[in-house]
Amino acid sequence: MSKQILHIGIDDTDSPKGMCTTFLAYKIINRLKKENVDFLDFPNLIRFNPNIPWKTRGNGAVGLKIATTKPNKIKNLVKKFVIQYSDVKNGANPGLVFCQDDNIPEEFFKLSSDAMWKLIHRNEAKKILSKHNFDYFYLGNGQGLVGATSVIGYTFEDQTFELLSYRKTSQFGKKRFLDKSKVKQMQEKTYPKTFNSFDSKKNKVLLMPHGPDPVFYGVRGEDSTTLISASKMIQPKEKLAGYLIFKSNQGTGDHLKNEIDVETFLPYTSGILHGIVNSKPIITNGGHVFFSIITKNIKIHCAVYKPTQMTDIAKELIIGDKIKVGGGIRKATKTLPRILNLEFIQILKLEKKLRLVNPFCKKCKKHMKSKGKNQGFQCVRCKSTSAHKIQKYFPRSIKKQIYIPSVSAHRHLTKPVQRMREKTKSEKFNPTSSWISNF
Ligand SMILES: [Zn+2]
Repeated sequence: MSKQILHIGIDDTDSPKGMCTTFLAYKIINRLKKENVDFLDFPNLIRFNPNIPWKTRGNGAVGLKIATTKPNKIKNLVKKFVIQYSDVKNGANPGLVFCQDDNIPEEFFKLSSDAMWKLIHRNEAKKILSKHNFDYFYLGNGQGLVGATSVIGYTFEDQTFELLSYRKTSQFGKKRFLDKSKVKQMQEKTYPKTFNSFDSKKNKVLLMPHGPDPVFYGVRGEDSTTLISASKMIQPKEKLAGYLIFKSNQGTGDHLKNEIDVETFLPYTSGILHGIVNSKPIITNGGHVFFSIITKNIKIHCAVYKPTQMTDIAKELIIGDKIKVGGGIRKATKTLPRILNLEFIQILKLEKKLRLVNPFCKKCKKHMKSKGKNQGFQCVRCKSTSAHKIQKYFPRSIKKQIYIPSVSAHRHLTKPVQRMREKTKSEKFNPTSSWISNF
């Protein structure tokens, strides 16, 4: 009997209180290994628009591509896992989608690219699934169907990998311990082939979560071979259950590619804008910076929050600076209008910073002093005078470059600076490599 292609999309099985869709994928793959299926790609971990109101931790969906002679048996197995491992009572709205065809319908691609930057209602996904008569399943309100459909329709233009290690069930919820110096060393040895493992400025481990979920640590990088050797350098004392390597759009800046529609400026939309600064930045008591830009004759409010550490850049902007910014639109509150929360600032052209200053005495190399209102200026030393202030250029402390948040404030999709140079080549999946391991 010939094998049939089966795409499996899973989303929103986790809640802030526990579980994790990637761990579910790890469980499912281990089970499918007993069913003589062919794995055709790394499991995909795709992060969609992070600026939606109901996202769980990272708005990440998981996709699997396999070939099997028993698609119906596999579908039932996967469904049982989704039912068993979804945290519905704590707010998960899981979705499970099967596309039993090598050709993925056009609508899946469209939904996927839209889900990257806007808010999509579950009914849009349901409509597509019903039209194609695909098997799907959901619990709760079924919002997870959007991610489960979109992950199947996702097309990689750039990719990274993440090795996620999982704890034994008995350890769930317990405090994690890692040797900080080992993580630091690992990053030093493997950079730039791994990224965001350690914040050397803050001397802080970044690759380890702190919540109740089954993940012990996750190493992100450019290829699976590097991740496997990097993972060996971490050497936690805790005995772990195993690991799984995902191909991902993390670190690709995927949600910040489209130009935001400033006419509608819809809340929960992500994207980029080109504009000219038209208000002097205001610094709040909390250290956040607010300013506005003009784009297509429309005024857009921008916010830069302190934890991003881009506030030192934002406060140096002056009226007339030409910039490109990216981020997510926050809905209006009673006191504030809709605001674009910035996730990067790229300076395209710096305006000259001109200020009027007291005239300069060339002989004494000193600025003159004012003699009183409308009475001109005089040099304190040689007493020479001048009637008017002069214009002086001040150097700008910011440069024509891109500024991104500090590494501790990176989101899953934030593109690290070293990844902006060039795209890495896509790594071919080798099913006999150590892409999954059980210790
Ligand atoms: Zn003088």
